[in-house]
This record gives sequence, structure tokens and C-alpha cells, in this order.
Amino acid sequence: MSSLRYLALQEMASEDKKVAHYGGKRITSMFAANVFTGRAMREYLSDEAYKSLMNSAKSGTKIDRKMADQIAAGMKAWAEERGVTHFTHWFQPLTGTTAEKHDSFFTIKSDGTAIEIFDGDALIQQEPDASSFPNGGIRATFEARGYTAWDPSSPAFIMEAANGKTLCIPTIFIAYNGESLDYKAPLLKSIAALDKAAVEVCNYFDKNVTKVTATLGWEQEYFVIDETLANARPDLVMCGRTLVGHSPAKGQQLEDHYFGSIPDRVYEFMQDFEQESYKLGIPLRTRHNEVAPGQFECAPIFEEVNIAVDHNSLLMDVMNKVAKRHKLKVLLHEKPFAGVNGSGKHNNWSLATDTGVNLLAPGKTPRTNLMFLTFFVNAIKAVHDHADLLRAAIASANNDHRLGANEAPPAIISVYIGKYLTEVLDEVETRVKDKFSEQDEVILKLDIHKQIPELLMDNTDRNRTSPFAFTGNKFEFRAVGSSANCGSPMTVLNTIMAQSLKNFKRDVDALIEKGEKKEVALMHVLRDYITKSKAIRFEGDNYSDAWAEEAKKRGLNNFKTTPEALDAFVTDAAKKVFFENNIYSERELDARHEILLEEYVKKVQIEARILGYMATNHILPAAVNYQNVLAENVRGLKDLGLGEGSYKAQLNILKVVSGHIQEINDNVEAMIEARKKANNTEDMHKRAAMYCNDVKTYFEKIRYHADKLELLVEDKTWPLPKYRELLYLR
Ligand code: ADP
Ligand code: MG
Repeated sequence: MSSLRYLALQEMASEDKKVAHYGGKRITSMFAANVFTGRAMREYLSDEAYKSLMNSAKSGTKIDRKMADQIAAGMKAWAEERGVTHFTHWFQPLTGTTAEKHDSFFTIKSDGTAIEIFDGDALIQQEPDASSFPNGGIRATFEARGYTAWDPSSPAFIMEAANGKTLCIPTIFIAYNGESLDYKAPLLKSIAALDKAAVEVCNYFDKNVTKVTATLGWEQEYFVIDETLANARPDLVMCGRTLVGHSPAKGQQLEDHYFGSIPDRVYEFMQDFEQESYKLGIPLRTRHNEVAPGQFECAPIFEEVNIAVDHNSLLMDVMNKVAKRHKLKVLLHEKPFAGVNGSGKHNNWSLATDTGVNLLAPGKTPRTNLMFLTFFVNAIKAVHDHADLLRAAIASANNDHRLGANEAPPAIISVYIGKYLTEVLDEVETRVKDKFSEQDEVILKLDIHKQIPELLMDNTDRNRTSPFAFTGNKFEFRAVGSSANCGSPMTVLNTIMAQSLKNFKRDVDALIEKGEKKEVALMHVLRDYITKSKAIRFEGDNYSDAWAEEAKKRGLNNFKTTPEALDAFVTDAAKKVFFENNIYSERELDARHEILLEEYVKKVQIEARILGYMATNHILPAAVNYQNVLAENVRGLKDLGLGEGSYKAQLNILKVVSGHIQEINDNVEAMIEARKKANNTEDMHKRAAMYCNDVKTYFEKIRYHADKLELLVEDKTWPLPKYRELLYLR
């Protein structure tokens, strides 16, 4: 009898994989075709409605009801001309995926006639049946209601799927009394906090700046494998990663995949999902192979952070959908394969003014360079003061496989700035003396300025091991996981930056009030911040054991697991910074902590179940069959009287196979016991710790023996597609 794996391999070989791709079409001809852009607004809205929407998008102010009716009518006209029949509020709940609930425009009037309607109410607010979204107890104590509310700063778009077209309205998702239950609501608050704090600091240098926005350019890594093969593995179907599987003879040691040519089948898939993305206004720019076999990356041109986060969530959704058309499966999981590089999502982050200046790009004049230094040093100070929050923001069961293991980057948060800027900061530190002096201004204006190269991008020696690296005109937060919603790390980054800038302004103003000159005051506070944040800077190899030692001495934390890391969300320091910047209330913070812990528990729980199931239903039966073959063979040879020499090897293999069977059986039973114990623990924090420390430890043990069996058992009868098949077959 053929195993499921064999059938899958046969089917895969016979599949017709030819699909359409966009060929010679120009990207500009399709870009944002499905987005209610400024241009579409101009065309479909009255002057008044257009102005009101533009204004609200810029300043975040509310749109009044009458205007909302007009805007909804315009949106509907635009959408209907494009074949749209339904609309949905599109939001990003804490489950980590995107959510939609489709309603049709169609409705019946009181006289029984049909009409298609989309009014301001439907645009502004909806009440999705939200009881199934995580809420950390917030909705249990109040009314079990959640609302989605329109975010006019992110444009509406048309999602095409399976021949249907839906108008999607980006929204926040909040509880009955306004508490946030998603990624977008706190992100928008952090953007506002950062804007305010950054404009005030900018005004020391340039009075014309009235708005500062954070910018984000993400780099999305992912694996692509054959769907038929993936479907033959319960772990890939249910968990998005392999729980067993021996590494192939050829892994990534040859490093021949990186920047190699893209396989045809994957290339067609890329073109297809890029085309869908372009229509949605996602400005994808680069695509290439990644280090691991079967691993790829795409990256867009950076955008304002709120839009960039939406676009990344949308992209992940589009990739999943389009892959199906190609009989492929996209793995966005942080660690789909053991022994092969995992996937991350570098978050390139910077700040831009409404005067067109990138605040993290070195300037051309002494004054603009002082402004650059100010924002640069404040970013370092922010990370120094709240490194644990950044770690918490990227904590997940998936990401533990990268950050907690010896893989890029480590769980210790540090900042890399490169040789040139290290010298500049050292210079400021040593040359600005305790005494206030007009001389400080000279140091800065002439000496330091000369030291900052105008274009750092090519000069910064790249350090690929750093979790948070300065790359010439932006910081690159590399520890973010590939499946994560960027909203979480971006909210923290914006918030801690806002806090640092607020402190900075307070400190500088205090000196100015004492009579110091502005430039002198700025230099002194900068020097102070450089000194105080030194511990977070690290230029060496972040993977080395020496760094782990050194970091410990410096007092930097190394939280390897999610339950530990998440605690940073509920410390006094965290509460203070979140409250002061109006990001979360205490209840929101506690709820979020609880939700994330529960999410962790569920993830590990599902993996434990699937692993037990695969061991018992797939691996052990295959091993027992092979045991029978061996036993039969030994018995036969014995019966023929051929002597021990003729079946010694078989007998040995039989013993080894039996040993592994026993071990798997025992460990699966022990794992089930540990799970029961954890499930009976009410306290979510304790339960998460038990899943982390007591349940998960069996994964490695079971896997070890399963992988040994994979090497021993006859290939033809092994039920699960092997790594070499998943990673190398196209
Ligand atoms: P690399 O990091 O490979 O050298 P780039 O520097 O061109 O490549 O950019 C990598 C990512 O950083 C891209 O997604 C790009 O859009 C983004 N990026 C570039 N400049 C900024 C910026 N000012 N703010 C945010 N992201 C940026
Ligand atoms: Mg990069």
C-alpha cells in the first residue's frame, strides 16, 4: 500500500502548474487600481466631502455624520462601477490575522422592493459578532459587544477573491467602552504621541515643521512549498511548521540559494501576488531568494507607518490566497524547518517631517546635523530605557524559535550604530565638558559636523547579527517575526521614542530657563543621554556566547521565552510610559498581557496535540510495520538454519527501531500528562509557564526519536513528506 506521502509525490509530479502571470504589463497601469485613492476621491466626492475626508485623514479628526453619508455614497458609486456587491469593515484583531465580515449593499425597503444601500453609519461604525475574538476578559465584565470604527487615514480598497469583489473599510476594533482590542487602535495613538513630541523637538531647529510621521519599510521573508506535499503533513496544515523531520543531506551549507535564480513555479507565484498587491496599492519593490532553500523575501518602498502596517497585513493575506491558485503553500511561520534558517520581518523605521526631511538621515549643514544627532541619540536612549518592551512586542511562540535559539538575532536587545557614528558619539561625550561653555557650540557646529559623513548608507559597516541596527538613514528592527503584525513593535517603538523626546525637551528647556544658550543646552543633554544609554550599544557579534556574558554584566535582559518576555508589558515602567502617552489604560494593558499569554498557550497546546497525533498515528505505525518486516526476515533466516551471522545486522536494526518506538511512546504519554496538569491550572501566567517549561520540553525528545526512525524505516512506507522533498522539489 502506498503512503499518503507517496500519493502526494505522484500527484505533485502530474500537476499542471501553468498559470497566468502579468507578463509585460506595466506596474503603473495597475497600481492602486483597487484603492479609493485621492484621485478617486476627487472624482467621486463633492468638494466639501473631499476636503473633509482629506482633512480627517491628515489630522485624525472626526468626520460628521452628514459628510459621512456623502463619502459613503461616493465610495459606493466608485466600488459598484468596479463590480463590487459587498462591503466589510476590515480589522486586525489580536489573533494575528485580519478579520472581515461581509455585508451586501443589498437590502429590502419597507414596501418590499430591493435597493442597494451604503450609508454613513455603515461606513463609520459596525458591530461585528465579536465574541470569538480574544479580549482578555474586557468584554466579559462589560457588554459582550465590540465595535469596528473607520480609520479614514487608511484608504478603502477592493478585495478580489474567487470572482467576488468586496469593498474593504480599514477600521480599528474596540470594546463597548472604547478599550482597544486590536493592533491598529494603539498604533494610531502612538503615532499621535510621537507626532506631538517630535514636532516640539523639531521646532528647536526648524519652526516650519508642523507634523512628524513615522515611516516603515518592512522586509517580508517566507517559504514556499508544494501544496499537495504540505497537505500530506498534519503539522504544516495545522501549525504552519514541521514538528518532525530529519534535516536533508544538503541543507543551506552550500549557500547556493541566496540571490540564486528564482524557480519558475515560484516566480509565477510572485508575479501573481505582486500583481494583486499592486492593485491594492502595496508598493512592492524587491524580490529575491533568501539564505535557506525554499525561502524568499519581498520588500516594498517605505510608507507612513499606519499604511505600511495595513499593507503588510494585507500582503500576507494576499500571498496565502494567491498561493492556492498555484497549488503552492506559503509558510509565514518564523521557523517552519528545524536546522534551516527561520524567517523574520525586518522593520525599517524612521521619522519624516512635513517639510520633507528624514530626521534619521545625516544633514548637510551643522544645524541639520545637530537635529539628526538629536533624533538619533533619542532613539538609542529610548531603546536603552525600554528594551524589554521592544522584546515583549515581538514575543510569540513562533518567534521563540528564532530569538531563543542560536539563530539571528538573539533575544538580547542591543543597538548597532557602526564605526563612524560611534566615533561621533564618543567625541561628543569626551569633548563636551561638565562646565557649560560657548566652546561647546563650536565643537558641535564645526568639528562634529565635519565628522558625520553626508551619506552614511554605504559607509556603515553592516552588522547582520544585531537586532536593532542603524543603516544609514533609518533603524532596522530585525527581531520582528515573519508572521507578526508590525503594529505591535511599531506601537512600542513610536511610544518609547515619544517618551524619550518628551524627556529631552523637558531637560533642554530646564537648562535654557537657567540661562544657557539653546545649542549649548542641546549639546549637554545629548551628552548626558549618550552616556546614560551606552549599555545598549553593541558593535560585535550578537550570536557569540561572549556577548551573552557581557550583556548580563551590563544588566541587559535575555528573555528567551514568550511568557518571560511578556511580563515586561505589565511592569511599573511599562505602565508609566503607556499611560503617559495615552496608548493603553491599565485594563487594556492587563487584558493584552492576558490575551498574548493565552495565545501562546493555545499555540503550544495545538502543537502538542498534533505532535502526539502524528507520533501515534503516523510514525509509530510505520515503524511497527518495518519492525514486522525485520522480525519476519530474522525468523525466516533463523528457520532456514543459516546461523546468527546471516541475520545479525537485521536483529540490530530491529532492536534500535524498537528502542525508538518505546521512547516515543513513553514521551508522548508523559507529554499528555504534563498538558493535563497545565490545563488544570487556572492562572494564565502559570499555565503559560507550564506549557513553556513542562510541555514543550517533550517536543525535542519525541522529535529526536522520530527523526532517527525516519532514517531507518524503509523510504517507500514513510508516511510524511521529507525535508528534501518539501524544500527542493518544485
Ligand atoms: P537594504 O536594507 O537591503 O540596504 P534599503 O536600505 O534600500 O535596502 O531598504 C530596505 C527597506 O528599508 C525597504 O523596505 C525600504 O523601503 C526601507 N526604507 C528605506 N528608507 C526608509 C525610511 N526612511 N523609513 C523607513 N523605511 C525605509
Ligand atoms: Mg535591510
